[in-house]
Amino acid sequence: MLTFDEARKKIIHELSLLVSSSPRAKESVAISDALGRILAEEIRADRPYPPFDRSLRDGFAVRAADVVPGAKLKLIGELKAGDTPKISVAPGTCIQIMTGAAVPQGADAVVMVEHTTIEGEAITFSRTLEPGQHIVPRGKEAAAGDPLLRAGHRLGFAEIAVAAQVGAIELQVYRKPRVAILSTGDEVVPAETKPGAFQIRNSNAHSLAAQVTLHGGEPVVLVNAKDNEQEIREKINKGLREEMLILSGGVSAGKYDLVEKVLRDLGAEFFFDAVAIRPGKPTVFAICQNKPVFGLPGNPISTMVTFELFASLALQILAGAPPAPLPFLEAHLAEPLHEKTGLAHFLPARLEWQDSVPTVKPLRWQGSGDLAAVAKSNCFLYIPADRADFAAGDPVSVLPRL
Ligand code: AMP
Ligand code: MG
Repeated sequence: MLTFDEARKKIIHELSLLVSSSPRAKESVAISDALGRILAEEIRADRPYPPFDRSLRDGFAVRAADVVPGAKLKLIGELKAGDTPKISVAPGTCIQIMTGAAVPQGADAVVMVEHTTIEGEAITFSRTLEPGQHIVPRGKEAAAGDPLLRAGHRLGFAEIAVAAQVGAIELQVYRKPRVAILSTGDEVVPAETKPGAFQIRNSNAHSLAAQVTLHGGEPVVLVNAKDNEQEIREKINKGLREEMLILSGGVSAGKYDLVEKVLRDLGAEFFFDAVAIRPGKPTVFAICQNKPVFGLPGNPISTMVTFELFASLALQILAGAPPAPLPFLEAHLAEPLHEKTGLAHFLPARLEWQDSVPTVKPLRWQGSGDLAAVAKSNCFLYIPADRADFAAGDPVSVLPRL
């Protein structure tokens, strides 16, 4: 059985092959709609940044050589951010300058206002300084034409700011992958209906749609399939019209777990059908008719965890982003813990900041159907497969979730 790391490597390998054979379609979006999208072009500096020698402080533009403790310089003008400098700083003079203003000719440093005494036009300085102090020279952040963002970059708030800075208000991004979501199970009814005594509402279709959206895809939710081969086949065929298919349920060893059989009949090539993790062991990854397909176990927390570990990775690559490692953080266990060895565990847990230390506490849960427990969590606590006993305070890894 593969470890989750080996399973992820397989996904990276297969998806990279898949995307290299067909370049991803692009579209143009307004910068206000670009959050979370994957950039499909290079964004370059349209001019040097900063565009002029910029003051980093409110204070006085001076010639550094003039300034020693007790030196007195004559104030000859003022520059606000946005002003055009018109006069230069001659020996023995200074110009009052604000943060963000252009440093005038002649000056080679800025002295913070806090280090001066102002008496009319006489400015007295209290300490020496280095040339260049509190100035960012023109072009120091980027030269005109320098690439600032590359294709494949996910547009977060900082990237959006860079695009705005250079005036890129229309951006070429990759089209979002359309991801079909197919839940299976005789017991599953739509969330908007009242379930019978032994039926359950379809939560997986909704959590999966949310996860697809968070990871940059466009969810296409299909009607739940009952546990019979013909219905599963029909709906899988429908799902295969999209760019990726995610199934929930029907991949365990039960008599009515038919997903793998139907996929096999449809010519799927399987790369794994079990991973050494709990929850989520019976996870299936296949390529069927050139489309990546994930069969995730139906227990809701298994479905969530396996999406985060595996399906999201395929979605990222399909979307045009380079595959990112899982964003594990280190934290300290709040209490001792004992888990069986053999499978890596991903337990719903709560990460908190206690006395400046990230501390994680596993939540009591009733197994992988316990949605009430996972809703109180903000991360999954990772317990490696080969270790059973942990003491309070032991360092562990956690996978934060949105
Ligand atoms: P399965 O993987 O098909 O054996 O499903 C395992 C369990 O997960 C089922 O007994 C249900 O309780 C639950 N389950 C399956 N599908 C869903 C779904 N779409 N929404 C919520 N729970 C589900
Ligand atoms: Mg089932």
